[in-house]
Amino acid sequence: MQQQLKTIFEGQKAQRQQTGVPSVQERIAYLKKLKYSIQQRESAVFNALALDLRKSEFEAAVTEVYFIYSEIDFAIRHLRHWTRPKRTKSTLSNLFTKNRITYQPKGTCLVIAPWNYPFQLTMGPLISALAAGNTVMIKPSEYSIHTSNIIFEILSAVFDPSLVYCALGDQEISTTLLALPFDHIFFTGSTQVGQIVMQAAAKHLSSVTLELGGKSPVLIDRDTDLQKVAEKVAWGKLLNAGQTCIAPDYLLIQQSQEEQFIQFFQAAVTRFIYKPSGAIDTDSYPKIITPKHLSRLQQLTDDACTRGACIAWKGTGDSKDTFAPTVLQNVPLDSRVMQEEIFGPILPIITYNTLEEAIKFVQDRPKPLALYIFSNSTKTTDHVLKNVSSGGACVNDVILHVSNLHLPFGGVNHSGTGSSHGYFGFKAFSHERSIMYQSKFGLSQLIYPPYTDKGRLLKWLKRLM
Ligand code: NAD
Repeated sequence: MQQQLKTIFEGQKAQRQQTGVPSVQERIAYLKKLKYSIQQRESAVFNALALDLRKSEFEAAVTEVYFIYSEIDFAIRHLRHWTRPKRTKSTLSNLFTKNRITYQPKGTCLVIAPWNYPFQLTMGPLISALAAGNTVMIKPSEYSIHTSNIIFEILSAVFDPSLVYCALGDQEISTTLLALPFDHIFFTGSTQVGQIVMQAAAKHLSSVTLELGGKSPVLIDRDTDLQKVAEKVAWGKLLNAGQTCIAPDYLLIQQSQEEQFIQFFQAAVTRFIYKPSGAIDTDSYPKIITPKHLSRLQQLTDDACTRGACIAWKGTGDSKDTFAPTVLQNVPLDSRVMQEEIFGPILPIITYNTLEEAIKFVQDRPKPLALYIFSNSTKTTDHVLKNVSSGGACVNDVILHVSNLHLPFGGVNHSGTGSSHGYFGFKAFSHERSIMYQSKFGLSQLIYPPYTDKGRLLKWLKRLM
């Protein structure tokens, strides 16, 4: 396998040297082909997402397949503008020159994807890479195997391996790929593996985009409509059964509001995912990806309870692939549920007395991927936004900032580096090259040596500084 991957990698490089950088029309043609190939297999994609994660067609359409159609259409619509060289002004040292920023494809790129939004998070970076004019090798997740197989089929049907190649397999394949000198690596996954990817990239000085995880807090101010807030938090926590990188991870709330919030949260969850009979509506509630991941969620809950937390509320319906929504109170901060990204439908509640205390709580922890603030006060919102760093933020809602393709999506430090979506994804896979065109009126000869007779010029410069 090692040799096969190396051959494909070298084939992609050789092909690009032969054919040169693809034109905008060619890139648009690739994107159209990709969309066509997905559309031809759309029902198989829905089926695969149902098998891997029990996503309903609606959830799979909104968060994965239609999201990708939008991303393709968006890139096609804007590509000419994105690729156009941007004019810049000149400064004193380069008067009369013409200056441009141009966008060069990085070259041969690697995309490594996770299992939680297995279709969206594999295809999204691919779209940006193709729009930017690169060749791509892709490794989807081994856990979402049905989706990975259909991705392989979609890509092999329309792309030659010298342009796009999909490598199926586990971390061994990832490791083999990471040993190759890619020009850019786009990794989506856990912070721990992100560190491994960055180390591997350092060996070849490959540039990286790391879309990682973390604990995204929800900070609730005292003056909010608690029922609405609880609904929004419940939706965000139940989406893909909490297996979402920007899921609300834990709650920061005033003690006086805690009980009321739990009641509203319980009511919202019951309305969203339970049938009148009391059984879980499995169409509205995905499964946990594997028994290993499910038992980890149980371990997180048990660990917290052993250390003194209590279960404030837990829904019914635990099964071999389903973890019922769980709310934890009095959670010790050294428990695993407050130390690790939860990535499941468990909501720990932390109470605070003053806003400054809540701000410090988040500041003292690794910078989150998303920050959620619910408040009616612009002053409070601005104060929190100014003092707490995070990859992205959403005020008075959760998750939805990810759906705006005009916004960059990404983390900061522990939650990632670089960003994706729309123009920002295109930029991640492009090298911004500055080009200066000298004019025949250029003044560069003024600074040539000898420097002994530059007294007047130096005096003039001093006056300008
Ligand atoms: P993961 O890091 O375990 O795996 C991601 C990918 O890396 C998989 O393809 C896997 O095969 C590969 N991999 C695993 N171990 C590796 C190793 N030692 N060396 C090289 N490659 C390796 O992540 P996951 O469990 O698939 O996904 C969940 C994580 O991804 C969560 O932390 C979540 O927050 C994060 N995530 C982030 C975003 C984002 O956009 N920021 C989106 C989705 C998920």
